[in-house]
Amino acid sequence: MNYPNPSIPDSVYQVDYRPYRRQFREPLRTRHGIWRERQGIILQVFDPRGRVGLGEIAPLPWFGSETWEQALAWCETRYAPAPRFLQETEGLVSEIPESDLLDIPDSHPACQFGVESALMMLRSPPIPPAPVPHCYLLPTGAIALQSWQQPWQVGSRTFKWKIGVTSVTEELAWCKQLLQALPPTATLRLDANGGLDWDTACHWLEMCDRLSSANHASIEFLEQPLPPSQFADLLALSQRFQTAIALDESVSTFQQLQTCYERGWRGIVVIKAAIAGFPSRLLQFCQAHQLDVVWSSVFETAIARQFILGHMVPAFTPKPRTLGFGVQQWFTDYLSQHNNVENNTENNTENVWMSLCEQYQKS
Ligand SMILES: [Mg+2]
Repeated sequence: MNYPNPSIPDSVYQVDYRPYRRQFREPLRTRHGIWRERQGIILQVFDPRGRVGLGEIAPLPWFGSETWEQALAWCETRYAPAPRFLQETEGLVSEIPESDLLDIPDSHPACQFGVESALMMLRSPPIPPAPVPHCYLLPTGAIALQSWQQPWQVGSRTFKWKIGVTSVTEELAWCKQLLQALPPTATLRLDANGGLDWDTACHWLEMCDRLSSANHASIEFLEQPLPPSQFADLLALSQRFQTAIALDESVSTFQQLQTCYERGWRGIVVIKAAIAGFPSRLLQFCQAHQLDVVWSSVFETAIARQFILGHMVPAFTPKPRTLGFGVQQWFTDYLSQHNNVENNTENNTENVWMSLCEQYQKS
């Protein structure tokens, strides 16, 4: 048991943050609509010894996290307003006792991730991630048939393609063509973003089962065929067909992940760590239940990605499935210059912070 000693004051931490906006090179079309701009917040946490850790808040409200505005409002009330016109080194940083630092409600999972990841970065530098292949996100629709060659030539072997966007007949035909066009060693992940109904899901899964026995590229899984509200049907589908089903939207928050596990889900789960709350709690849960995880991106910058790849993936999955982080081709802005986090890690995060400060002062 710990006996708190009131004569020892709580350690005081300092927090500084900067919002960012990034335009997608091409607006991203998904079931949830058209996405043009990624907004987030990068923060720095300093401990009393002057050590610093960087963290990122990258909300995704249509996946159940707080909005960017809510995250920013949280930072503004908890920490001092970001010093727009001051040099980074002269920034007004707010002081906060250690005991309050992680006092963040579950309504703000992206903030929980951002602050605790900064703290964990500060306490232990990331393990240089072992090279794990990334999944390449193909553009939606028939254009995918021409878009896999270039990434294939530079080493991509797993591709992801969004379905449930246009008519089933059309998409099924394109999918067959795509599987025949891809080299036999390629793997395809289909993602419906919850956009199918029972009949179309069965239709897709029948085709996936049939095609998986043929001599061409294989289908690794169908992601979220039905909306999260149809959990019993999702479970039934996973038992009825050979093709694996992965849950994504159903498990986007930590509480949803817990619930699905309690209701009997033992299949693949796609985890977007940046919006799944406190990373330590998430890791503990994944370890305790030996979950079959696909670590996936929410179009975060190198800061959150480096944390997930360097702290979370190696801590839990010795041989992880292909990662869902092959999305760098979607940006061409100042932050993309620092995307290669596997190289030159420390300089890289420093550079990201400096770029943010420059951009923020210009805005
Ligand atoms: Mg998905």
